[in-house]
Amino acid sequence: MGFDRPHAATLSFPRVAPEKGEALSSWLARIARAHLLDLDHVGDEIGCAVQLVDHAPSDSTVTQIGRRTAVDFDRVRAAVHPLLTSLDRPVRGELDWRVCPACLTEDVEAGRAPHLRVAWVHPLSTVCLKHRSPLQIPTDLQAMAMLPMDVALPRQDHGLTCVRKEPLDSFLLAASLVDPAKPASPDLETLVGEIRDLVDALSVQMNFALGRGAALTLFEQPRRDRHIAPMALTLPDGLMTGLDPADRLLFARAAIALRWPSPGYHQEREVLGDWFSRVVAVVVPKGRRRVIADCGMDPLGLLAVALPAQPFHQLRRRAKDWSEDMRARWSRAEQLAALAGLN
Ligand SMILES: [Zn+2]
Repeated sequence: MGFDRPHAATLSFPRVAPEKGEALSSWLARIARAHLLDLDHVGDEIGCAVQLVDHAPSDSTVTQIGRRTAVDFDRVRAAVHPLLTSLDRPVRGELDWRVCPACLTEDVEAGRAPHLRVAWVHPLSTVCLKHRSPLQIPTDLQAMAMLPMDVALPRQDHGLTCVRKEPLDSFLLAASLVDPAKPASPDLETLVGEIRDLVDALSVQMNFALGRGAALTLFEQPRRDRHIAPMALTLPDGLMTGLDPADRLLFARAAIALRWPSPGYHQEREVLGDWFSRVVAVVVPKGRRRVIADCGMDPLGLLAVALPAQPFHQLRRRAKDWSEDMRARWSRAEQLAALAGLN
């Protein structure tokens, strides 16, 4: 079969062609299925774990995939998201897949193999731009149609199927910023850094005066009536890559909603307003509450009020690298936290 020959086209027959816009890991998983191989074996053949191949593979990995599959280098390279970096590589080494169910249904109806799109693999991509619907962790049925048998099925988070209580516009904006079909925005690195910092902040145990739970609970409680366990007491560094795929999606969506809240915070007022008043009632001295209420309700302010002193000051240091509008919002959030008397 030639598996022992380093350059043999061992994965070229039966032939499995990449679909247009298909992500590299998805194509390799379909090759594994067609060849009755497990993913680890395909990983050995190409010199890179299939689970990590979407995250900035080296030219030598792309070349080796081209040799093994007898497909041109450029065509293999086209299956790689141009903006995904090795910093986004999941440290747990699991397949970081999220899918649009409507796109997968269209694949089947059109007689194509259901497949993962390159556009879905970036952590800032949380909705399908075509159907304007939330990406989801593949269900068991979807995963079984796309993956070889040896892959463990992903944990689901059914709460994420609905975006009714979140600013869909912000998800669409974030997804279009990392759309591989468009030129990258010059400040993308800063924006992605802000999302990473916000994910870190959302994972921290909130001020104990407010209760036990990650700061994300402040946003998940009113949205989906649920408590999120804290992951750290001080600000972690790059937590997003250490989360499982369902939590990565959950935290990325919350951070995106915080980064690009609805204009005038209208939607936040509707969904989080009550909650905000309750937080203020717990942490703000009575005489200052009216002033706080007048400050409006930037959800970043809610986060600043809820963070304990140490992670608050850690986040404050990171905020110096944020973009101009975020720095302005943070400085108002700091004032709010000072008024509350906590930070
Ligand atoms: Zn779709």
